[in-house]
Amino acid sequence: MNLDSMRRYSTDEIVDAVVIGTGAGGAPLMARLAAAGSRVVALEAGPNFDPQAFAFDETLADEIYWTDERLSGGSTPEAFGGNNSGTGVGGSTLHWGAFCPRADQRDLMIRTETGEGTDWPVNYDELLPFYERVEAFIGVSGPQSYLWDASRRYPLAPVPRNASAQIMAEACAGMGIRATDAPAAVVSRDFPQAGGAVRSACINCGYCHQGCRNGAKTSMDVTYLPLAVAHGAEIRPEARAHGFERDREGRITAVIYRQGGVDHKQRCAQVFLCAGSVETARLLLHTGLANGSGQVGRNYMGHVATQVWGTFDAETRPNKGYPSSLITEDMIRPKGADFAGGYLVQSLGVAPLTFANSVARGRKLWGKALGDYLANYNHVAGIGINGETLPCDANRLTLSDEADALGMGKAAIDFGYGPNETRLNAHATKLMVDLWTQAGARDIWVLDRVAHTIGTCRMGHDGDHAVVDAFGKSFEVPNLWVCDGSTFPSSLAANPALTIMALSLRSAEKVLSGA
Ligand SMILES: Cc1cc2nc3c(=O)[nH]c(=O)nc-3n(C[C@H](O)[C@H](O)[C@H](O)COP(=O)(O)OP(=O)(O)OC[C@H]3O[C@@H](n4cnc5c(N)ncnc54)[C@H](O)[C@@H]3O)c2cc1C
Ligand code: SF4
Repeated sequence: MNLDSMRRYSTDEIVDAVVIGTGAGGAPLMARLAAAGSRVVALEAGPNFDPQAFAFDETLADEIYWTDERLSGGSTPEAFGGNNSGTGVGGSTLHWGAFCPRADQRDLMIRTETGEGTDWPVNYDELLPFYERVEAFIGVSGPQSYLWDASRRYPLAPVPRNASAQIMAEACAGMGIRATDAPAAVVSRDFPQAGGAVRSACINCGYCHQGCRNGAKTSMDVTYLPLAVAHGAEIRPEARAHGFERDREGRITAVIYRQGGVDHKQRCAQVFLCAGSVETARLLLHTGLANGSGQVGRNYMGHVATQVWGTFDAETRPNKGYPSSLITEDMIRPKGADFAGGYLVQSLGVAPLTFANSVARGRKLWGKALGDYLANYNHVAGIGINGETLPCDANRLTLSDEADALGMGKAAIDFGYGPNETRLNAHATKLMVDLWTQAGARDIWVLDRVAHTIGTCRMGHDGDHAVVDAFGKSFEVPNLWVCDGSTFPSSLAANPALTIMALSLRSAEKVLSGA
């Protein structure tokens, strides 16, 4: 994004807020605080990109992934890098899929409902006004009448369905499952962005995960960040926070960061840690902050994100069209299920290299066999789920003895499915295979995968069991807030980014109310 004429602050000036990380958690609150007159400085570890540099080429997209080494262990180890972690001005929204369902209200109260998992300290009615604000501001496309919530209206008409969405729609109809156009943070018409430029309508190129060239996909660098800069916020790219200075009362007085190989200190009144579930916990563990509860790093979660692929007689061209254009929420609470919670089903699109990697990993095909299978690429289609993962103490992020160039221990993440995730996954896999069989697919296969990075600094009612309160404010450090995917007490069935943005605006309102 263009930062040429942004306001700049001296590191000696005590700014009102330092925001660490400019992704889904950091950007909305930056814009809101700056619009209210706060002096805001954002430190972003990654570079500032020009969207015009994004190409229809997967090999060029590595630069928007967080690829620093992470040690992944446990019984269901999660892949990081391009699978779930972004970097740069805009964070993971540079390459997210923009599929943006709201949380189901039952998921926020899952403990009360099922005796499993953890209730959130925030209920759906409290989140609703923030969901609506985010959806209107970023421009969400979706059905005018949402099957699972009669009161919901999306601001923009749906984007066209790709081939897998059309196949899934017919298969769902055949099995009596309701499905509709998915809520997508993609503008289906030219969209004047408040505080920024007009965003051009989606051209259905299908390369959302490689960065959208024309700003049709919502990423923070074309939505909340231009608004923040227009209101006087400063963004410092390639500036990585790695320490804090504190006064005798324990308040943070400055954030220490490395930029251009040199350490700097930005003085500030409040700090908003929005570095994503892995880096936020890592920074807190490294500095020993806000962990009296012992909860920092615990309850790490990735969504159950299994996919099913099959081959069809008709051409599908899976690289074409917005990838995730159909949804069913009928499995949020499947009848007769032997697990707590549920899952969403979505249609998929895929670019060729990503698909080749999935085939090699999922089907264990190599060499000629891999090449022969990939010759069918224009005839494959897939569906996938986003399934609830319950919090579990043993799923945990710790610091490895191995340090990075800044002296911070590398993140070591242990993750494994418990019995609930295993049963949910079995239910979903059978359903997806049944759907693809119904649709006439042949050579159906299953790709087990885990997606997203969630938890590690959970919100709760008290500092004995949680790191932050329901607004993201630390129980221990008076001027520290955490606003990103790390604060989720349980994963929800919904994909996380919309809820992260809504919580971010909610934190900002709390700050502005003088909390
Ligand atoms: C391929 C892919 C597809 C996805 N699709 C979807 C989807 O369709 N729907 C959905 O809801 N979610 C999706 N997600 C997930 C979604 O993008 C994330 O949940 C969301 O962006 C997380 O927001 P966050 O603020 O927690 O972290 P991020 O958006 O990752 O932002 C964190 C930022 O902090 C910066 N940072 C880290 N450490 C430091 C430091 N020490 N100092 C300074 N800066 C630092 C990082 O560089 C990064 O820019 C997808 C993710 C991926 C990778
Ligand atoms: S499909 Fe639409 S939103 Fe996705 S990258 Fe292409 S133009 Fe952007």
